[in-house]
Amino acid sequence: MISIAYRPTNVALLRHLRALPVSLHLARACVLALLMLPIGCLPSAPTAPHAADSRPLSVRYQVTFEPDLHSGHTQICFDGRAPRDLRPIAGEGPALLGPVRTREGRVLPRSSHGVQLGALAADECVHYRFELGARGFAASHEGEALLTSQDAWLLRPSAPSVASLELRLPSHASASLPWGGDGARTSLPASALELPGHVALGVFSRRQFEADGVQVDLAVLPGELAVGLDGLVRAITGDIRAVSSVCGHFPVSSLDVVVVPVGPEMDGEPPDPIAFGLVRRGGGASVMLLVRADASEEDVRRHWVAPHELSHLLLPLIDRRDAWLSEGFATYYQEVTRVRAGLEDEETAWARIVDGCVRGAADAQDEGALSLSQAAASMRETGHFRRVYWSGMAFALAADVRLRTRSRPSSLDALLCAEGPVFRQTTGTMPATTALRTLDRALGAPVLAPMGEAWSARADFPATAPLLERLGVHVASDGSVTLDDDAPLAAVRRAIMAGPPN
Ligand SMILES: [Zn+2]
Repeated sequence: MISIAYRPTNVALLRHLRALPVSLHLARACVLALLMLPIGCLPSAPTAPHAADSRPLSVRYQVTFEPDLHSGHTQICFDGRAPRDLRPIAGEGPALLGPVRTREGRVLPRSSHGVQLGALAADECVHYRFELGARGFAASHEGEALLTSQDAWLLRPSAPSVASLELRLPSHASASLPWGGDGARTSLPASALELPGHVALGVFSRRQFEADGVQVDLAVLPGELAVGLDGLVRAITGDIRAVSSVCGHFPVSSLDVVVVPVGPEMDGEPPDPIAFGLVRRGGGASVMLLVRADASEEDVRRHWVAPHELSHLLLPLIDRRDAWLSEGFATYYQEVTRVRAGLEDEETAWARIVDGCVRGAADAQDEGALSLSQAAASMRETGHFRRVYWSGMAFALAADVRLRTRSRPSSLDALLCAEGPVFRQTTGTMPATTALRTLDRALGAPVLAPMGEAWSARADFPATAPLLERLGVHVASDGSVTLDDDAPLAAVRRAIMAGPPN
């Protein structure tokens, strides 16, 4: 069975979080990812252009992993001039074992930004050693396979660069990389030096397949897995098909999926088929899923974590303090897209939405006068993820209904679809207001941005009951949910769940 490299404090937190209701899995994922991959999602220092010459630098990386895959050596060579300094891609940057040195062995000074290169000679190389183990990177199987991110072993130049990378692995090992290839020298997309990604190294099962026009590279790390490789292919195909219902095609044309089997004995609670997931964008879209060893194909196929993670790709990476928007949209679409794809029935989806709002409202009550933005910014400290996720979901629902009931009807699907190409070109993170203004541009009217500003300033959980009732989602006094097709907005409710005609 695979061992997960959680540090003791993370295990404690995992157990604590596992005690929370089902709707918190993604929140737990974010927290765990944050702890397991401490440099994972932090914005990096701003890039300062090199004086005088604005042409991109040419940078060649060569990364050599030791046989245990937990440590290695990075060499960075510059064709021509070097940047002013080397910086972390995210957060702390690589877990350096020692100093960064020039070819002749000169130790380069550190600064608050990273490593100062000073007046490095043209065509110079620098090198350093790194150690992943101490950073607790995600998962390993006694040296057989490893889940890591390139920001754990790369430093990025402080100026715009054209980069290539060669990965040197032990002879038994292979690599699954978000930017493709097998580790032989290949050019790196700019996002690989801006954001973390999921990289699998070692001995693992692999399946490359096409699903609804998306090239999928599936890596399954060692460990028992009842669902099997074929079952995973079918489940992932279904998830891609579900999210493709938003605008007739999936947000990206290629996707890396890394599945890490986890044991049912991870804690004492009823196991969920997918314990959690995390989507990343560095080097290309990649998603990591922790799948229970004993989960059946049917369980995995119908579970909501993968559609949630993949729905994040409908928006650009949103500023962490505005997580209510990104998590809200993903929480909305995890339900909506599964109904559209036949993975969940409509009544169950609405019952889950009602339940999520009840739990979110309970969190909001605990937080007193904290606005939704403040709650989003502090949710990792307060643990009030449900308020943020479900307030954001309530925003997505209210926005979608508002768009669909205008004199010239539109929908969230239509706007996300129209602005998808713009969002995909976005590098780095985007504030919620900018994302909503972009959607308003597609609409041709300022609707969502003002609505979002008001929403994020709210100190209470939005009252969802009146809207749900108008949609024909009737909640009985015992909490059970029935659907009323005679309700004033029943047709809108059905249209949301039917999706656009493709
Ligand atoms: Zn999420």
